[in-house]
Amino acid sequence: MQTSDGFLNRRPVQQQQLVAERPDRMEEACGVFAVLAAEQPVANLAYFGLYALQHRGQESAGIAVFNQDKVLLHKDMGLVSQVFDQDVLALMSGDLSIGHNRYSTTGSSRVCNAQPVVLMTRLGAFALAHNGNLVNAKELRVLVDDGKTEFTSTTDSELIAFAVQQAVNGGLDWRSGIEAALKLCQGAFSLVIGTPAGLFAIRDGYGIRPLVFGFLGEQGLGHWVVSSETCGLEIIGARYVDDVQPGELVHFELGSAEPFRKRWSDEPNRLCVFEMIYFARPDSRFFGESLYSYRQRIGRTLAKESAVDADLVIGVPDSGIPAAIGFSQESGIPYADGLIKNRYVGRTFIQPTQAMREAGIRVKLNPLPDVLSGKRIIVIDDSIVRGTTSGKLVVALRDAGATEVHMRISSPPVTHPCFYGIDTDTQDQLIASRLTLEEIKNHLKVDSLAYLSKEGMVEAAKAESGNFCSACFDRNYPIPMDQELLSSKLTLEPSGSTNR
Ligand code: SF4
Repeated sequence: MQTSDGFLNRRPVQQQQLVAERPDRMEEACGVFAVLAAEQPVANLAYFGLYALQHRGQESAGIAVFNQDKVLLHKDMGLVSQVFDQDVLALMSGDLSIGHNRYSTTGSSRVCNAQPVVLMTRLGAFALAHNGNLVNAKELRVLVDDGKTEFTSTTDSELIAFAVQQAVNGGLDWRSGIEAALKLCQGAFSLVIGTPAGLFAIRDGYGIRPLVFGFLGEQGLGHWVVSSETCGLEIIGARYVDDVQPGELVHFELGSAEPFRKRWSDEPNRLCVFEMIYFARPDSRFFGESLYSYRQRIGRTLAKESAVDADLVIGVPDSGIPAAIGFSQESGIPYADGLIKNRYVGRTFIQPTQAMREAGIRVKLNPLPDVLSGKRIIVIDDSIVRGTTSGKLVVALRDAGATEVHMRISSPPVTHPCFYGIDTDTQDQLIASRLTLEEIKNHLKVDSLAYLSKEGMVEAAKAESGNFCSACFDRNYPIPMDQELLSSKLTLEPSGSTNR
């Protein structure tokens, strides 16, 4: 436990993280969650909210609780259920909690980089949790470093917190101090900030990462909940009210029936389309429907775009399954569960030895020969990033008796890295940036391969969703970046070649 006026940590840091086998996936940055409610177990509610958002980050978890003039903070490496237990939560009473699940995109995976960030100001302590990634972190670090600034982490989130601290210490109140700090930040940021004056929820001008809010208990009671996704509201019985809109600052005060809402930035909406395709939970609702429905629809579109004769459609669990069901519905080819996923494999586990790998050990996915043997299979996955696991999967399906393997991908080819809070490799590690469709098909040793078209991906979304960020498919980065940052990941393209 760490408090704003004294520090002690109840648990030893889990230093001995095991070697992680890097999954062949784009990986989510973080989940944020906050509860503002009098006489409620706000830490326990944050625990359950973070539990629902665990898919957004599994490296560390933290909760800060406001108790009169103190901020109680507990954070550590590991899953929410590993970092917190009832004894810890029982010590964290108060009326405002700020929670965070982390997966590192900026800053290494260490407990000092876990969030929330808690800092002191002349108006009291505040706690900040961030999902996203700044593209001007280097410049912001220079701006907030007044020579006395004591950086304790290597994250861009701490820089946002220092910007808030300096604005408030410079004489501004919480609302205008936060707004002043936001104007120094460029990039993707969905933020929850707990202060003595209430709870703030903010999205960057483009709305790259999602953020929603709802109420707890009776409407009008003034008990508010903010979450990265609607599944975080539902797990604690909160009712969805609205999205925090792109470029919006929402200020919730305890007991206030309506929050204060202000548009602080006016950029075009560019929600990350990968949130819809893969990152967010399928039961979370975007634009009035569950992502399960959207993902089924892109499966239907994929079936129309790249039909093939086969006996069975299977999905790569879990994220490929709704699209596989949609593909099956559209094509009339039966759907079956052909792959079983070990649900207990976390982000960190011991790498199988070379001998184990050669023996075909399958840590995460195991095919069902009873289902697959003698069948021509269409296998649906949400994306191919490096292509490392897709090839192994094809081998496993053939070993299980599949006579043909046709791979269909429910997103366009990932050709460019992300700078907005998703962990991607440099461009040369992305298989679709190096190889043609035919070369990837041969590399994966599949009988046929097709991706969803970009038009199909966008058309499947509801009209009111507006435009998306789809830069990892088309290089159309919505937020301007300096050449140095671009070049850090764009290793295939000549320097100076940018869209913006
Ligand atoms: S570059 Fe790709 S992963 Fe990153 S925000 Fe844009 S669509 Fe999402």
